[in-house]
Amino acid sequence: MKILLTGAAGFIGSHVARILLDRGDQVVGLDNLNAYYDPQLKHDRLARLTGDTGFSFVKMDVADRDGMPALFQRERFDRVIHLAAQAGVRHSLVDPHAYIDSNVVGFTNILEGCRHTGVQHLVYASSSSVYGGNTQMPFSEHHGVDHPVSLYAATKKANELMAHTYSHLFALPTTGLRFFTVYGPWGRPDMALFLFTKAILAGEPIQVFNHGKMVRDFTFVDDIAKGVVHTLDRPPEADAAFDKAHADTASSWAPYRVFNIGNHDPVQLLDFIAAIERHTGKKAIKELRDIQPGDVPATFADVSELERWTGFYPGTSIDEGVGRFVAWYRDYFKV
Ligand code: NAD
Repeated sequence: MKILLTGAAGFIGSHVARILLDRGDQVVGLDNLNAYYDPQLKHDRLARLTGDTGFSFVKMDVADRDGMPALFQRERFDRVIHLAAQAGVRHSLVDPHAYIDSNVVGFTNILEGCRHTGVQHLVYASSSSVYGGNTQMPFSEHHGVDHPVSLYAATKKANELMAHTYSHLFALPTTGLRFFTVYGPWGRPDMALFLFTKAILAGEPIQVFNHGKMVRDFTFVDDIAKGVVHTLDRPPEADAAFDKAHADTASSWAPYRVFNIGNHDPVQLLDFIAAIERHTGKKAIKELRDIQPGDVPATFADVSELERWTGFYPGTSIDEGVGRFVAWYRDYFKV
């Protein structure tokens, strides 16, 4: 299969690319290599892919209204995995336009490209943040998600709505994946595990928001990447009977689906930090802080729909996953 993978130089994208290449798919990776965090990390992730004959790379912005249609026309992709986005809840309070450009304008270009070139399946990244301040646990796809509490979350919910219209109007099979706090080797420098490990190893203090009571369904990146590929292989139109049986509304006959991908085993931030302490062999110096605007106090994924549809569910324990991250971090930074 010939697959467009956007965000290929990103944390999750580089792991997804590896699985696809190892099984023999042809992958066109796209990324704008922006400087939201150190681009060297993106170049180093890409360097692990570019030696593979099945991989080619396009440096492009998904919001490029001329470049994107031309790319779709030229390459004729079978399937598309769209992970490129401006990520990060807190940064969306600082630079809202970046979220609209990448996540809304960019997503429109992806939908249009898929529509006009007959792409068989679009899988795209949504986020657990769409659940906002939902307190009904675990978070199920059947819960209403109309109250996002950050612009980042609002753009991800917008993606789901936009995907539904394209599935409905143009019979474009789409699957949205709500990732729950992803962590692991080659992870993002703006995320808690990276920040905490860096500070703990350097003997510097860490800022612990919501006084450590924050609860997150931390999900290991290998599980996320496998989940992406499992869903890619099961386009929604493959089982019309399933669609009909699970239709929520009269219009849900569209080949449209949204799944949670999370570890379904939430932990308190303080326990997560304890795992980092165990694997680094060092004590954290904790500075307890209030919850940040836009953050939600807890996340917890119900993954029964994902399991029912793909037979797959995440299962890497926090202890194993944090251990693998710390080993990667020490090797990469030689600390
Ligand atoms: P990442 O920032 O490491 O990867 C995103 C990649 O997309 C980056 O390499 C970036 O350069 C690229 N990119 C950003 N804007 C672009 C644009 N306009 N055009 C082209 N390329 C662009 O982030 P990630 O953690 O790998 O996240 C991947 C996807 O998963 C994102 O859509 C993110 O919103 C979503 N997600 C991530 C998490 C998580 O915990 N990491 C949780 C929920 C959802």
